[in-house]
Amino acid sequence: MNNKITIKLKIELSIQPLYCSICGQPILGNQKISLDHYIPRCHGGKDEAANLLPAHTICNSIKNDMMPDQFEVVKKDLYQRALDTWHINRKDKIIVANALKYMR
Ligand SMILES: [Zn+2]
Repeated sequence: MNNKITIKLKIELSIQPLYCSICGQPILGNQKISLDHYIPRCHGGKDEAANLLPAHTICNSIKNDMMPDQFEVVKKDLYQRALDTWHINRKDKIIVANALKYMR
């Protein structure tokens, strides 16, 4: 990770609450955090601060390398599938279940 990105993440972590850019829920202190490439690298997204948004690690795994507009269309199905079929820990299950509850 380059310095700019490290600084951006440090600043964002100091602002509370921090929200997951994928599910929209707050990222709590006991939840795993990652940086989501808003435009995935495989679609030409860069490792730049402007393209990196905080997200729950589990949400980032669910979004995987989908483009944001593609993901919006199938988001609910992907979260449901993760909840039903993935072997995920209890903390992550709560994130996924809550995300589904508030999804349209
Ligand atoms: Zn999330």
